[in-house]
Amino acid sequence: MERMRTHIGIVGAGPSGLLLSHLLHLQGIESIVIENRSREYCENRIRAGVLEHGTAELLVECGVGERMKREGLVHEGIYLRYRRQDHHIHFPELTGGKSIMVYSQHELVRDLIAARLRDGGQIVFDVDAVALHGLESNSPRISFQKDGKPFEIACDFIAGCDGFHGISRPSIPAGVLRTYEESYPFGWLGILAQVAPSSTELVYSNHDRGFALLSMRSPEVSRLYLQCDPEEDLNEWPDDRIWSELRQRLSTEGGWKLKEGPITQKGVTGMRSFLVDPMQFGRLYLLGDAAHIVPPTGAKGLNLAVADVRVFSAALDAFYKKGSRDLLARYSKICLQRVWKVQRFSWWMTSMLHKSNQGEFFEQIHLAELDYVTSSRAAATALAENYVGLPFEPL
Ligand SMILES: Cc1cc2nc3c(=O)[nH]c(=O)nc-3n(C[C@H](O)[C@H](O)[C@H](O)COP(=O)(O)OP(=O)(O)OC[C@H]3O[C@@H](n4cnc5c(N)ncnc54)[C@H](O)[C@@H]3O)c2cc1C
Repeated sequence: MERMRTHIGIVGAGPSGLLLSHLLHLQGIESIVIENRSREYCENRIRAGVLEHGTAELLVECGVGERMKREGLVHEGIYLRYRRQDHHIHFPELTGGKSIMVYSQHELVRDLIAARLRDGGQIVFDVDAVALHGLESNSPRISFQKDGKPFEIACDFIAGCDGFHGISRPSIPAGVLRTYEESYPFGWLGILAQVAPSSTELVYSNHDRGFALLSMRSPEVSRLYLQCDPEEDLNEWPDDRIWSELRQRLSTEGGWKLKEGPITQKGVTGMRSFLVDPMQFGRLYLLGDAAHIVPPTGAKGLNLAVADVRVFSAALDAFYKKGSRDLLARYSKICLQRVWKVQRFSWWMTSMLHKSNQGEFFEQIHLAELDYVTSSRAAATALAENYVGLPFEPL
């Protein structure tokens, strides 16, 4: 068994694990990241693409925002499309100048991996048999295998950044965490297409046939989604059927045209709202998707992960520099305040925009909600300030 020692053992090289490791490095705190996938897999996993105002600012402040500033697309609003008409929500006007940044999650992951390796950081890819030990002791341990050989990392704290399906959360004894969960009777069929986006900004469309979203990852790549059954069989969706359905659900009275191109990736994602309280047990702290999942309609998952990292890295800074445990003790409470507000917003956007199985009464309620949001400055402001990101919690 090869033994290692560090301050913080980090499980998972997604956005939360990598950003945490980077911020800790800037604070002079050592960490080792272990990841059960390959570097190539992590750098090419297509996921989120919308960064809140505060997320983009934080990335610039900590020195990993250079490429994002160059290649990312600043968006000043979104379109809500319903009854085949567009209504624009202008963020800067409603939020005192804030906007969002469209920049692919896998590009951010590439930037973070490059920054860690440039700074001599340790990321161990392709590990397996990961297990956590001694969580209630002052020196918890992470055991794993790499190339068939056993390793163990002893550390002061473990950061569980291993996503919804990771091992960190299930390592906490039964009965400690309270789980809140809501699943939805629909999912998203998402495609990536090699074609310039048909709109300069995201279009959220409420349609009789179901919700559709037009999004983008770059000036050459479109990302589009269709509401579908959570168990939808992709084999029943040849490219022609996907484009035909998108054309119908995104059509407008003004004869707007959808640009079509080769589909390079297809997938179905289920939707759930999920969180655990507290986000911590002994010396194990959960961050990002390991602790909470939101339906993607509000574009919040990655941003919530970044918000957790901000709190946890500040808490560790206070612990190592001043010996203070105050922020560590309040970690869960501070994060969960934001998580619940973001859960509410994501649930609200999801309910308003999707066709539910609740019947015609609710379809009319959702249209009334859209009419209200697009005609009342107060309601539009509420949407805008959540979409660009609520202010970070004071620490
Ligand atoms: C299709 C889709 C679209 C999305 N769109 C958006 C969007 O527009 N905006 C937004 O903000 N969010 C979006 N999200 C959510 C966002 O992608 C996640 O919230 C984000 O990835 C969370 O980051 P994380 O680091 O916490 O978890 P993850 O990105 O899941 O990273 C966890 C890492 O841990 C690794 N791991 C797992 N188990 C182990 C183990 N046992 N040992 C070691 N490593 C392990 C995984 O391989 C992974 O690399 C979307 C998600 C999906 C699936």
